[in-house]
Amino acid sequence: MADYDLIVIGGGSGGLACAQRAAEYGARVLLAESGRLGGTCVNVGCVPKKIMWNAAELAQGLHDGSGYGFRIAGASHDWAALKQARDAYILRLNGIYERNLASRKVELVRGFARLAGRGAVEVGGRTATASHIVIATGGRPLLPDIPGAELGITSDGFFELAQRPERIAIVGSGYIAVELGGIFAALGSRVTLAIRGDSVLKHFERMLGEACLEIMRADGIEVVTGAQPESLRDLGGGRLQIALRDGRSIGPVDTVLWAVGRAPHVEGIGLERAGQEAGQAGVTLDPYGFVATDKYQATSVPGIYAIGDVSGRLLLTPVAIAAGRRLSDRLFGGQPDRYLDYRNVPTVIFGHPPIGTVGLSEAAAHELYGEEVKVYDSAFVPLYHALTASKPRTRMKLVTAGPEQRVVGVHVIGEGADEMLQGFAVAVRMGATKRDLDDTVAIHPTAAEELVTMR
Ligand code: FAD
Ligand code: NDP
Repeated sequence: MADYDLIVIGGGSGGLACAQRAAEYGARVLLAESGRLGGTCVNVGCVPKKIMWNAAELAQGLHDGSGYGFRIAGASHDWAALKQARDAYILRLNGIYERNLASRKVELVRGFARLAGRGAVEVGGRTATASHIVIATGGRPLLPDIPGAELGITSDGFFELAQRPERIAIVGSGYIAVELGGIFAALGSRVTLAIRGDSVLKHFERMLGEACLEIMRADGIEVVTGAQPESLRDLGGGRLQIALRDGRSIGPVDTVLWAVGRAPHVEGIGLERAGQEAGQAGVTLDPYGFVATDKYQATSVPGIYAIGDVSGRLLLTPVAIAAGRRLSDRLFGGQPDRYLDYRNVPTVIFGHPPIGTVGLSEAAAHELYGEEVKVYDSAFVPLYHALTASKPRTRMKLVTAGPEQRVVGVHVIGEGADEMLQGFAVAVRMGATKRDLDDTVAIHPTAAEELVTMR
């Protein structure tokens, strides 16, 4: 008999959720973690990022306050104090996660784990066996393959910054570039955003990226388009300069932050050894280097599964958690058909203002439904900004399909979009039509009411 029913490699969002759900069903579970419990989200992702976003929102609030009669002379911000408070909070979370594992009787082993042949894992100087093994090793930020790249930092380095850089260049155009660019700008840094295309957030509804860039520029962020970095140079005196392929340069700046995507943690974890004794090729990767899985999170080797970022489908914490819990429901909870449907997953980009989006973009809907697509747009200055100096417009788009006008996409950039989208995601999932939205009485005065009053 195997030592355990389940071994989970990685104690991040997905691994913890999977292990704890399995233990709740009475499974004997071992979880291996080589770093800090909670993984990316808790230590160098969602949680500390949201704290920084809150600080940036407060900074904007202080700025907007004058329009509402507040006289806040000489307000200053202490980055080091914020970092200290943030780090202390995260440390408390690490402790809570460890206690949660203990209370559910999940055995925690500290150390780097490796697959070691059929049903076996080496960790902490021993080899343990299990009927099921879950790879939940997450990923790490990428550096571009150019000379001097190591002089820059990534999102991991962002959380280590002891002081706020006065001048920063951020390279990238996805979630992290938009989020961290917004935070630095709101807290007072001079930000240059270098994007290789002409817009940001290319994988989403186009309106969102365009509106986001417009607001970032209005907030004083310099945006360099068509920027393909060739090298990063140290000019001395703590000054850095990015040379672009077309001869232009960016800088000097104090810090360069790469936000060009993430790579899965697959090296050294013994993927090739997994199926050895059965004469199999080991755990296979997809063309992008992520662990290939089917809809049940199963890898190419029986008894081995992968969840979360390492499996490369929507790199989001609630996705990793949902995949992990559903897998345990299936393996140990008597729900043989349970799996995660990756469609219509809502997501928020915590910019200033935030962006919330679920479902199909207008372009994707046209590809899928052809002419049967009808789109509703809205752009307005929200009431909050009636009295403030800056007037960023909230923009919304509803994408509907078919004669019944089923809502297949909801896209919002504007104050409150982050909290607005969860409920609308439920409606999309349930197959709501435009008529259902029309028949819902509005909440006034809010920005969200626009979504049920569009014509
Ligand atoms: P991780 O959380 O990365 O956990 C993997 C764990 O495995 C790590 O703890 C690692 O130490 C451990 N490990 C790796 N190899 C081994 C090994 N061989 N043996 C033992 N342990 C190992 N998502 C959101 O939904 N909302 C957000 O606002 C958000 N903000 C983000 C901000 C930033 C800056 C970043 C970088 C990410 C953000 N994300 C956000 C994404 C989110 O953090 C990830 O999708 C999520 O953490 C993935 O969970 P995971 O369990 O797959 O991997
Ligand atoms: P993203 O995949 O979001 O964006 C990276 C972007 O960088 C690409 O879209 C690409 O844009 C650009 N890029 C890639 N290579 C280069 C290069 N060599 N030079 C210049 N630009 C380049 O990755 P992030 O690093 O921003 O974030 C990683 C993941 O973490 C996200 O996908 C998301 O799943 C998760 N995350 C989630 C958050 C949330 O939920 N709020 C917050 C932060 C991260 P283009 O093709 O347009 O040039």
